[in-house]
Amino acid sequence: MLPEELDGVLVEECGVVATVDHGEASNLTYLGLHALQHRGQESVGIASLCSNSMHIRRKMGRVAETLTPEDLSSLPGDRAIGHVRYSTAGGSVLRNAQPIFVELRFGPVAFAHNGNLTNADVLRRQLESSGSIFHSTSDTEVIAHLVARSRKDSLEEALVEALLQVRGAYSLVVLSREGVHAVRDAHGVRPLVLGRIENGWMVASETSSLDLIRAEFVREIEPGELLTFDPSGLQRSQRPFAPVTPTPCIFELVYFARPDSTIFGRSVYAARVNMGRELARSTSIGADLVVPVPDSGVPAALGYSRESGVPFELGLIRSHYVGRTFIEPSSSIRHFGVKLKLNPVAGLLRGKRVVVVDDSVVRGTTSRKIVKMIREAGASEVHFRVASPPTRWPCFYGIDTPVRSQLIAATHSLDEIRDYITADSIGYLTMEGLRRACAVAGEDGTDGTRFCEACFSGDYPIELSDEARRSNAKDPASDEAG
Ligand code: SF4
Repeated sequence: MLPEELDGVLVEECGVVATVDHGEASNLTYLGLHALQHRGQESVGIASLCSNSMHIRRKMGRVAETLTPEDLSSLPGDRAIGHVRYSTAGGSVLRNAQPIFVELRFGPVAFAHNGNLTNADVLRRQLESSGSIFHSTSDTEVIAHLVARSRKDSLEEALVEALLQVRGAYSLVVLSREGVHAVRDAHGVRPLVLGRIENGWMVASETSSLDLIRAEFVREIEPGELLTFDPSGLQRSQRPFAPVTPTPCIFELVYFARPDSTIFGRSVYAARVNMGRELARSTSIGADLVVPVPDSGVPAALGYSRESGVPFELGLIRSHYVGRTFIEPSSSIRHFGVKLKLNPVAGLLRGKRVVVVDDSVVRGTTSRKIVKMIREAGASEVHFRVASPPTRWPCFYGIDTPVRSQLIAATHSLDEIRDYITADSIGYLTMEGLRRACAVAGEDGTDGTRFCEACFSGDYPIELSDEARRSNAKDPASDEAG
């Protein structure tokens, strides 16, 4: 799947980082966010604490393009949290950028959140009707208001009380005079990992952040775990929530997470290669070349090639230098939007039977353009293979998905999808194949992990609000992924 600039469909949610007890906390947080840029490119923010004063910078845009050395030097202290955010169409404004900062009776507090609360709308209405004034449309502000209303003696207790009222997916970091808190919802939908850097610590959405600063991976924050780093450097862990069966997001392994990350105890890269192998086992067809849709389809295409014996070739080249274009050519240049991103290697494709491998298909519009582009480059046959099951349901746990009626697999049969994208054949990975690909142990090909698979199955592991359940057709502009 191509990134959001082109496809406008499934988009990564957000990424969070916290750096604790390190003299360069804001610099390391900046670097940690840089390694999470794929999780959100609309806004970036860092909050730091120095001598009991909070400092915060939030900007629209990407990490490297917006936060300046002057910004970082204005973020002193040895503790910092940061956030990169993707916003839905209605929410791309600075007031929705994170970390969210509030002054409470505990002093200044900053929150950064990855995920989506499924009862945020209900809680927000209750809070507003009893006088709360919201400054943003972010779910995270709901948590801040619940903390503000708590009568508990400490921020930690107030945070627990607040989180006991919310439902949904969250990996959250909180900075205050009481310390740094890192917490993952009981279902463990979004990843959150802990690393060691010199005498300090880093918490991040993915291990890619730890790798960049050469922090040592320690462990994942467990589902339902609240980890606290207090001001004296002590660390304590608690599990204040009722235990449930964890259901980490399987789409993190399919597409969202970086392939060089290890999350949910798995190498993302290895899982994707396995997906390609499983795909070849169930959908192999006579062909001359296997070509990935770059970049996210590359590991699965490698796996497909290894399993099927069909040679792997980079038949589509992706430009990494596409910004916004102001010059639109005449309509005589076909597939211009896709061609800005991808160009076929005609000499490779001419006269060949080509298997194209992508990680997923959402609306099908980009797949159709890619198939046509490969055919126009001279391929004699184009067979489309998808390294995940048909995406038929929207996500309510922090991924921005189109309404159900716009998911092509929700409204079309496989034959209809094949005809729409103009491929000679189409094949998807089965749910069983995806589970086997993501398993790390077990003779039966599974390891007992129960993933959230709701966008494939419609079986939502965390209760949805009545509004969401009624429609199953979320308006993407109506809420905010964090
Ligand atoms: S619905 Fe899909 S994208 Fe959302 S958390 Fe579940 S598996 Fe992940």
